[in-house]
Amino acid sequence: MDLFEYQGKQYFARFAIPVAAGAEADTVDQAVVKAEQIGYPVVVKAQVQVGGRGKAGGIKLAQNADEVRRHAENILGMNIRGHVVRRLWIEAASSIAEEYYASFTLDRSAKKHLGMLSAKGGVDIEQVAEEDPDAIARIRVDPVDGLDEAACRDWVKAARLNPAATGGAVDILRKLYRCYTEGDASLVEINPLVLTTGGEVIALDAKVSLDDSATPRHPEWAEFSSEQVLDDREGMAKKLGLQYVGLDGSVGIIANGAGLAMSTLDVVAEVGGSPANFLDIGGGANADVVTNALTVINTDPNVKAIFINIFGGITRCDEVANGIVEAMRRVDLKSPLVVRLDGTNAEQGRAILQANGSEQLIMAATMVEAASKAVALAGGK
Ligand code: GDP
Ligand code: MN
Repeated sequence: MDLFEYQGKQYFARFAIPVAAGAEADTVDQAVVKAEQIGYPVVVKAQVQVGGRGKAGGIKLAQNADEVRRHAENILGMNIRGHVVRRLWIEAASSIAEEYYASFTLDRSAKKHLGMLSAKGGVDIEQVAEEDPDAIARIRVDPVDGLDEAACRDWVKAARLNPAATGGAVDILRKLYRCYTEGDASLVEINPLVLTTGGEVIALDAKVSLDDSATPRHPEWAEFSSEQVLDDREGMAKKLGLQYVGLDGSVGIIANGAGLAMSTLDVVAEVGGSPANFLDIGGGANADVVTNALTVINTDPNVKAIFINIFGGITRCDEVANGIVEAMRRVDLKSPLVVRLDGTNAEQGRAILQANGSEQLIMAATMVEAASKAVALAGGK
């Protein structure tokens, strides 16, 4: 689960990571009330789960109530790269001397935690990594040993931050490491981490992804999840119990098994198309499951063709074929369906589809052939 900035900052605060005082607001009037309580100047910040809010005009400084009102009016309802702003975070403005970058995530191949720190913050870190890779100091932390102060100090030194920031940075990074490990996050990122003109080091932005596998350990996360805004398609899929992730392409995808579903996305991209979603229908691909899957994909206005990719192992292709035939009776499909069946009882499965042939149902022998047909039907990208 990805947190909004305001939730990330609330999470940071539990680990004593310094953040500026702030409050949420869902309306213009609320924004003004909160700003009056906080005291000017304040920053009015759009709460959407996408980066680059600053550049998109979603972050504005306000010196008085009129300015808060004007910015809040502009920002609420704003569409930032497909995310509509429904909530603001009003924060006491900080006086910035320097902007840095800091994060922790997992380095799977090293079997260690990876910390990244850079004196070049406030900008896109991918861009820094590309143009000036030496500007990012990396540290790999063995989870058994943890991050001790001496190692943290060396890391900060390697990042060449302003010496005035060293003490504050060491302190905040060790707290951030605790937030990441004890807080069961898969990613914590502060961009920018700032040195204020008053010499303090604080987190001006917060990006936190919580590890869903740890949900049972954190009943308090319910408060965060209740405020998540799902994409309409994802909300529907969740209700139907499907493993679905919405994407923005034109080829709807259904596969059995997460690995096959991922490969299917790759193959569709490889032959020049773009997937509209990830959807793993798992082992029990009966008529109900296929109906649910087709129902969700059918509501996606971008979908121009659907690709069902099944490899029968324990799941039998004849069962899946019956499921597809039945689902096609139940759902009034807007797009053609390309089906590839292979593995256990594939012959029987294909025979069932053939016997129930329709114009909307296209069969293909291999994964690449099916992907190519689906992409062609979707009109390429
Ligand atoms: P993002 O663009 O979505 O990453 O949003 P951020 O929260 O990182 O803000 C973007 C930029 O706005 C920062 O890098 C700062 O330069 C600026 N900014 C944010 N908050 C403040 C603040 O309190 N004071 C000042 N002066 N600038 C701020
Ligand atoms: Mn940022």
